[in-house]
Amino acid sequence: MKNVVGVLALQGDVSEHRVILERLGAATREVRLPKDLVEIDRLIIPGGESTTIGKLLVMYELLEPIKRLSKKGMPLWGTCAGAILMAKHVADGRPGQPTLALMDITARRNAFGRQLDSFVADIAVPAVGKKTLSVAFIRAPLFENPGKGVDVLATLPNGDIVAARQGNLLITSFHPEITGETAIHKYFLSL
Ligand code: GLN
Repeated sequence: MKNVVGVLALQGDVSEHRVILERLGAATREVRLPKDLVEIDRLIIPGGESTTIGKLLVMYELLEPIKRLSKKGMPLWGTCAGAILMAKHVADGRPGQPTLALMDITARRNAFGRQLDSFVADIAVPAVGKKTLSVAFIRAPLFENPGKGVDVLATLPNGDIVAARQGNLLITSFHPEITGETAIHKYFLSL
């Protein structure tokens, strides 16, 4: 066990995740090239732009190795754009947008229209053992049609799914790292 958390560092809010992980005492490493994957035993795919991160995953030859490692059981957590990249199905995606397509769920991109483009909300995530978390939604997706093996971890008051887990795979449509919320990072470290 190396106990090093990788943060995919092709685009997006990489340093915010590292700050929280380091606050929790975890060793971190930025992942930019396939060789970086040898050094880690779990990986966070941060928010950013899923179409751009997807293209860069292909360009840097990271897409297939990450898929392979996660199928072998490496814990993988995608926040926002990262979650879109992990979902097997993408609604309102760009045609041909490359994704990892690992989790049995649909991610609907930019699901909150213009008015609610970005907002901070208090949500309940019972699995992480804290009553409410204050988290940021930034042009966030929503999740739909979870498969049988998928546990829904959090919904909005109207029932929309915003966090889910399937074995070693965790997705959140929101950013806990932006509001400095540590509970989901702690939970991810326990997977
Ligand atoms: N809307 C972005 C996308 O489709 C995701 C936004 C984010 O990661 N904060 O990839």
